[in-house]
Amino acid sequence: MKTLYLYNTLNRKKEEFRPINTSPQPSPSKGGGVVGLYTCGPTVYNYAHIGNMRAYIFADLLARTLRYNYGEARVKWVMNITDVDDKTIRDSKIKYPNIDPNEALKKFTAEYEKYFWEDMEKLNIKKPDVIPHAADQKYVEKMQDLINKIVKAGYGYIKDGSVYFDVAKYYKNYKYGKLINLDMDGFKAGVRIDADEYEKENVQDFVLWKNQEKGDPFWDYELDGKSLPGRPGWHIECSAMGQETLGMPFDIHTGGIDLKFPHHENEIAQSVIGYNVDQPVNYWLHNEYLLVDGVKMSKRYKNFYTLRDLEEKGFNPFAFRYLCMQTHYGKQMNFTFNSLKAAEDGLKHLKNQVRELGDEKGDINSDYKNNFFKAINDDLNLSKALAVTQEMLKSDLLGQDKLATVLDFDKVLGLKLNQVDEDIELPEDIKSLVAQRVEARVGNNYNESDRLRAEIEKRGYLIDDTKDGMRVVKK
Ligand code: AMP
Ligand code: ZN
Repeated sequence: MKTLYLYNTLNRKKEEFRPINTSPQPSPSKGGGVVGLYTCGPTVYNYAHIGNMRAYIFADLLARTLRYNYGEARVKWVMNITDVDDKTIRDSKIKYPNIDPNEALKKFTAEYEKYFWEDMEKLNIKKPDVIPHAADQKYVEKMQDLINKIVKAGYGYIKDGSVYFDVAKYYKNYKYGKLINLDMDGFKAGVRIDADEYEKENVQDFVLWKNQEKGDPFWDYELDGKSLPGRPGWHIECSAMGQETLGMPFDIHTGGIDLKFPHHENEIAQSVIGYNVDQPVNYWLHNEYLLVDGVKMSKRYKNFYTLRDLEEKGFNPFAFRYLCMQTHYGKQMNFTFNSLKAAEDGLKHLKNQVRELGDEKGDINSDYKNNFFKAINDDLNLSKALAVTQEMLKSDLLGQDKLATVLDFDKVLGLKLNQVDEDIELPEDIKSLVAQRVEARVGNNYNESDRLRAEIEKRGYLIDDTKDGMRVVKK
């Protein structure tokens, strides 16, 4: 077994990863344990942008690395869907003002969730093993159970129909601020915040259960004999879904760095009190931002691109996946179309190298496999892993062995290196020219067909007439 090192935000250093369940049995059905991985999933109120996608590509690479180390069946990856929070409620009411608010929320979030999974598939992000939805009655009840426990332990209180977490009391007895250093000097006990998201200057009692506002969706809840129709706060969602799906404590929790505070800090506080554990999660891993011109890509700054935007410009989503692998997840990465184009060219070149190896697989080369392992196990050093891949492909190994080795590496890289590119989504003008050319050829009008080919080439695309039909690729 190789040693895996991961940078743990909890202790601010790279550490050897030791799974909780170290049972040596080969599979869960034979009594072996699984490594538990929880990823904060999307808030489905809009299209995800490629900054969000960086977070999920990172989580996918981590899940694949764990599987490469421990075996396919021995990793349980959970990703929740946040389908109830301030933003989903706000926008569902705007989109569906005339239907029942709970139904409106369901309908509205289902649409964006569908787009989300389409994007994930295009990026070859494997579907997580369990996908809990925060608005499911089953999970809402688990959240309510957890709130009950927190209140019973004396760390939660009811105020104006909502339930809050008593940060002052927690802070007195435990460390609040494990993931980031919090300056508690300005903290005012008993001051409350209702918003799901807030800045660290606003450390306050946060909401566990939010009183229903008129016209908002709600779930029934009774606490201390009081009826409290309302909905869960964002942080309680992940604590309860993590415990329900992975038990507590579990191994690894991921998210982007903006989730360290307040989201993850509050998750820790809730679970410490409600589930009575010293440390709810052993390893916290956070990816850095994708930037545009030095600024975090975000909906708020309106400086974002979706995967659809990239496709409309003629890019293959795999180019973005490949681009993300060139910068360590813990470092900021500035997005430009030039770097995306360079990544696309690099990936094409790599795929050509693999295609030239033919179809026959030999043996996996153990020396290169060791080097590859070392790279990914060094806190997911993917750029090093790609360099090892290149070195192997340029070595004097037999073609068959190279093929076997590179396809083994591809279990982690997830680049579908042995698949011929499917036709990319083409811009509308090119699609129309291609359609005209098909028509010209059907009518044996070869002059027109050649003219159209030249026009398409002028606009940056090449047409390849193969025996299986026509392929259009970007120049
Ligand atoms: P949200 O749907 O807003 O909860 O975000 C989903 C995930 O994307 C979270 O893990 C965020 O931390 C992450 N995220 C948001 N913006 C960026 C960005 N610009 N770069 C990298 N990750 C991001
Ligand atoms: Zn979360």
